[in-house]
Amino acid sequence: MPDVAFVNGMFVPLAEAKVSIEDRGFQFGDGAYEVIRTYKGHPFALDAHLARLERSATALDLTQPHSRTEWTRHVLEGIKRAAYPEAKIYIQLTRGVAPREHTYSAELAPTVVMTVREFHSLDRSVQAAGVEAMTTEDIRWGRCDIKSVNLLANVLARQQAKQARVFEAILVKEGLVTEGAVSNVMVVRGGAVMTAPEGPRILSGVTRAVVLELARNEGLPIQERFISEAELCGADEVFLTGTTVEVLAVVRVDGKVIKDGLPGPITRRLAEGFMRLVG
Ligand code: PLP
Repeated sequence: MPDVAFVNGMFVPLAEAKVSIEDRGFQFGDGAYEVIRTYKGHPFALDAHLARLERSATALDLTQPHSRTEWTRHVLEGIKRAAYPEAKIYIQLTRGVAPREHTYSAELAPTVVMTVREFHSLDRSVQAAGVEAMTTEDIRWGRCDIKSVNLLANVLARQQAKQARVFEAILVKEGLVTEGAVSNVMVVRGGAVMTAPEGPRILSGVTRAVVLELARNEGLPIQERFISEAELCGADEVFLTGTTVEVLAVVRVDGKVIKDGLPGPITRRLAEGFMRLVG
C-alpha cells in the first residue's frame, strides 16, 4: 500500500506529490503543521489537533484553507486510503507560492499538504525500561506555542541527543526546563506532577493536556510552573508526553540516574491510564 499524500485538495501517491520551490514553506519555513496518530484506526484527539492548527494559523496570519469539518473529512479519507493498522498523519499549511520576498500578499493561496504514513509505537520494552535524556540550551524563538514548520533549533537539539545516544533533548532556557525537542516534560516531586506552564515558551501539547487531566482525576496535585535544571535532576520521576512518545519515563538525565533508575509509580500509573484511554 503506497503512502498517501494530499496536496491542495487532491489525494495522490506520496511519490508523485510535488510543491513549488518558490513555496514560502521551503523558502522561509513560513507555515504551521500538526502530527496526529491513530489508535485502532481512529485519529486520537483530532479535534484538539485541528483546534491547535487553527491557533497556529491565526497567530501566523495564514489563510485557513479548510474548516474543521472539512479537515476531519480529509483526515478520515486519508486514513481509509492508506489502510495501515496504525497511521501518522502529518498536516502542513504554508503561506503559499510567491517570488522570494519577506513580505507577503494577503491574497496568496496557502499550500496545503497532508501525508499519511504507517506508524509504529515505541517498543513496549523501551516503554517499560524508560529512556535517557540530555539537557541542552533552548535557543528557539519567543513563540514556541505556535507549531511552526521552522524547527531548526529542535532539529539541532534532537541531533545532539542522537549523537549522545540518548532519546530526547530536554531544552533549558535561563536555567529553567521548557520542554523536549519533540515532547513536553513532566517531573514528579513529593507526589506532585509539575510541568512548564502554557505560554510562549512551550508548545501546548495535546498529550500534555490529556495526561494532566488523568493526573487530576487520580487526585494528584499539579503544579504548572517552570522547573529548574537542579529540580529536574533531583526529581523523584521524570517523564515525557507527546503524540509519538505517549507517556514515556526518563530514567537518566545527563548521565545522572533519576531516583532508582526505573520508571516511577506515578509515571507508570499515568502511562497505564493513558493506554486505557486510547484503547
Ligand atoms: N513539544 C514539542 C516541541 C513538540 O514538537 C511536540 C510534539 O510534536 C510536543 C511538545 C508534544 O505535543 P503533542 O502532545 O501535541 O504531540
